[in-house]
Amino acid sequence: MTARVLVVDDVIQNVKLLEAKLTSEYFDVLTAMNGQDALDIIDKEHPDIVLLDVMMPGMDGFEVCRRIRANAKSAHIPVIMVTALDQPKDRVAGLEAGADDFLTKPVLDLPLFARVRSLARLKVLMDELRMRETTGQDFGISVGSDLSRNISLSGARVLLVEDYARVADRISRYMEDLATVDVDDVASGELSTAHLEDYDLFIISLGLNDVDGLRLCSQLRSSEATRRIPILVLVDEGDTNQLVRAMELGATDYITRPIDRNELLARAKSQIRQNRYANRLRQNMQKSIEMAMTDAVTGLYNRHFLSTHLDNLMSKENDTRTKVSLLMMDLDKFKLVNDTYGHAAGDEVLHEFARRISNDIRNIDLAARYGGEEFVIVMPETNLEYAHFVAERLRMSIGDEPFKISGSDTPIKVTVSIGIALAWDKNFSSSQLLAAADQALYQAKENGRNQVCSLN
Ligand code: GH3
Ligand code: MG
Ligand code: MG
Repeated sequence: MTARVLVVDDVIQNVKLLEAKLTSEYFDVLTAMNGQDALDIIDKEHPDIVLLDVMMPGMDGFEVCRRIRANAKSAHIPVIMVTALDQPKDRVAGLEAGADDFLTKPVLDLPLFARVRSLARLKVLMDELRMRETTGQDFGISVGSDLSRNISLSGARVLLVEDYARVADRISRYMEDLATVDVDDVASGELSTAHLEDYDLFIISLGLNDVDGLRLCSQLRSSEATRRIPILVLVDEGDTNQLVRAMELGATDYITRPIDRNELLARAKSQIRQNRYANRLRQNMQKSIEMAMTDAVTGLYNRHFLSTHLDNLMSKENDTRTKVSLLMMDLDKFKLVNDTYGHAAGDEVLHEFARRISNDIRNIDLAARYGGEEFVIVMPETNLEYAHFVAERLRMSIGDEPFKISGSDTPIKVTVSIGIALAWDKNFSSSQLLAAADQALYQAKENGRNQVCSLN
């Protein structure tokens, strides 16, 4: 996977070195030698990742990072801080300023590539979700989400896999203000914790006695329920092999022993935040898709979805299109229901109506709300005789049992008129089919309502 990386450092040799390393691994590299240039480039070029030196004259790396985070257009771009080895406080300050990760100078190849790749993966996911979200907003169907990083971390749950009780205790204590920590000591040789999908973060020791922590990482990554949950691995200082393997297997971040409390907290916080951010986008996306397809009052498919579905069904490529039947239904004297019981009661009737018809059709049939109190049912592989039979049954399921409405003791008598059309001619279009059913419905109304009519 390739990504565009912006390297920011005030020392030209450092810039050249990082540029060479990253280019050799096929990353696209942009460079800047001070904070303001970096911000300008970010604004114009939208890099995927920023590698940011802390110590720079004028605007330092912390300030640049804060400004990246404060701008809605760049708030989601992963930032890796490059800090001096002898300034451990800088790491924590960097993470607090909103950096996602850090590297220490001199920057070694393996951690550099591992970190950049892991963040590039994450960035791809985020971009995908953001794009769908924005597309949804263009159509006015998104659910007012906030794309900033200000996501609540409350109620966070962490599973710590560590068989050394003293270390497990210490880590739990370090994290008590941030999250509830459950410890799994993998005594049976496997994870024994239930509902792994409920965790925000897994912290896995790579120094377990009887179990290979790398194997656990790989298991968590291959299972659908846990695939997206971040994994923070604990490695011994200098154990680069283990670390690189873990990152290749999908660990999202690492921390080296001896564990520094602030570093652990900042890293865990950043992972949990990223995970919740991605989850929220995913949920919003699903909601947007549902909202784009369905009608809010009845939960049935909306008219737009119906048209798409019907067009597919009636396309020339479909050999069975002459067997598509369509029912057009309209509630009788529905205005009277609104006038007598109020609009809210009317909505309840529509909802219950939708429930009854949905329960009464096959899985391959599709029920949609066509207009205010008009509904359509599309039935593939259905002849006129069977369509009549279904329409009669639906008519009775509405008319035979009055509708109970909240806040009213007397159930409301509701009836429906139904028009049927069959696409008997292979040149029938979906709009002709709808028009034919509408005409049949008009006939049913003319004939006195609460009945089924067809023109064929
Ligand atoms: P007909 O038997 O000829 O169909 O008479 P009708 O009263 O049902 O027909 P008309 O078209 O005159 O009135 C339809 C009514 O449906 C008017 C409108 O207020 C009501 N309606 C449409 N959409 C909704 C809705 O979402 N909720 C509620 N409560 N009422 C709705
Ligand atoms: Mg009506
Ligand atoms: Mg009507």
